[in-house]
Amino acid sequence: MTHVIIGGGIAGTTAAEELRKRDPRAVITLVSQEQHPLYSRVLLPHYLKGKIPRERVFLKKESWYEEHGIEWLRGISVVALNARNNYVALSDGRELPYDRLLIATGGDVRMLDGDVRGVSYLRTLDDADHLDQLLGELPAGGRAGIYGGGFIACEYLNLFAHFGRPMTIAFRGPHFWSGTLESEVGEFLNAHLREQGVEVRPGERFLKTVGDKVLEGFATDAGTYPCGVLGIGIGIKLEDTWMREAGLKSGSGILCDEYLRTNLPDVYAAGDVAQYFDPRFGRHLCVGNWMNAQMQGRAVARNMAGEASPFSLVSSYATQALGLEIIAVGDTLRDHADEVRVIGSKEEGIGQHFLQEGKLIGAVLLGRNTDRAWVTKEIGERC
Ligand SMILES: Cc1cc2nc3c(=O)[nH]c(=O)nc-3n(C[C@H](O)[C@H](O)[C@H](O)COP(=O)(O)OP(=O)(O)OC[C@H]3O[C@@H](n4cnc5c(N)ncnc54)[C@H](O)[C@@H]3O)c2cc1C
Repeated sequence: MTHVIIGGGIAGTTAAEELRKRDPRAVITLVSQEQHPLYSRVLLPHYLKGKIPRERVFLKKESWYEEHGIEWLRGISVVALNARNNYVALSDGRELPYDRLLIATGGDVRMLDGDVRGVSYLRTLDDADHLDQLLGELPAGGRAGIYGGGFIACEYLNLFAHFGRPMTIAFRGPHFWSGTLESEVGEFLNAHLREQGVEVRPGERFLKTVGDKVLEGFATDAGTYPCGVLGIGIGIKLEDTWMREAGLKSGSGILCDEYLRTNLPDVYAAGDVAQYFDPRFGRHLCVGNWMNAQMQGRAVARNMAGEASPFSLVSSYATQALGLEIIAVGDTLRDHADEVRVIGSKEEGIGQHFLQEGKLIGAVLLGRNTDRAWVTKEIGERC
């Protein structure tokens, strides 16, 4: 059996490892756009803060691939898929035939049009190295800017605060995660950031960076804010041109069933790129977290090896914004719920419960991490 895996992140590498365990004779090729062996994106902020040395972010050594009989094509991209004749085309002109193909390409960072030096994105180790350089070059007292209101914006808030940088954050919605948070909860977070000394600018549309060649600030439709480094956290998108051309169905991710099979024969998807059917919630979910990507890598390998192993997980994401713990568990899109209840108070921490037919399907907890275990259990017992 010949397996080709596109994407050397946690989903793709876990799948390769699991396939090797299951079949010592399988031919496994891992095509990886990045040059680095598997590393932890979760640890990148820790590396940037100097809490761990750079080498600690790596989860595999370069020798690991050969030792496990996995052909590792690094620095190479898949540029086309021919699903009728079971092969992919590579950026170096080669073609790779497959019996089973896994797409584990994660997400592509949404970028601004036309960058100047000083603009940062935070997805890859190379991005982290770049930000490390920018922070090193920022003069004493220099301000930092952030545009975006999601998980990556939280990472920038914590990082810039760690280095004692005064900062301005602007975002398009009235508060962070406008598709998830009720206004009372969103305002609680805005107030928390302001209390920590951050200039918070909600409801502003990004217009442009300010400065020729080197960043001096950024402008929105409501004002101009000086900064020497600007972190952009406006989400990821599906880079699906070659996938659509191949006939793959997609929504916000590649659509697949609970076995992580796409609509094309012998083609699977896993990790951030997959929009999979979760029988627990009765709908397709696109989940962007480490545990989900790792568990899907494992599950998809079982299915590629011939088992029928459905995937379902009560997924959760925990982060913090300037000391305030933020946890999202289960299905937390407002549109998916029949009812959203705001719980708690400023003093004891605030949150939201997402209900469907009276049952808990998701929760967001701000400063209420002690609820995490029972909430996860209750959602898990739902089906
Ligand atoms: C800074 C940061 C902090 C995070 N912190 C947390 C956290 O605390 N907790 C948590 O749960 N999650 C966290 N996440 C999210 C988590 O890291 C992701 O959900 C996870 O890495 C997704 O893994 P993946 O394998 O699906 O995709 P990725 O890790 O994105 O890997 C996909 C790989 O495929 C490659 N690729 C793309 N297209 C092609 C192609 N055509 N050909 C070949 N290769 C291709 C990409 O270059 C990439 O290397 C964080 C993410 C970031 C960026």
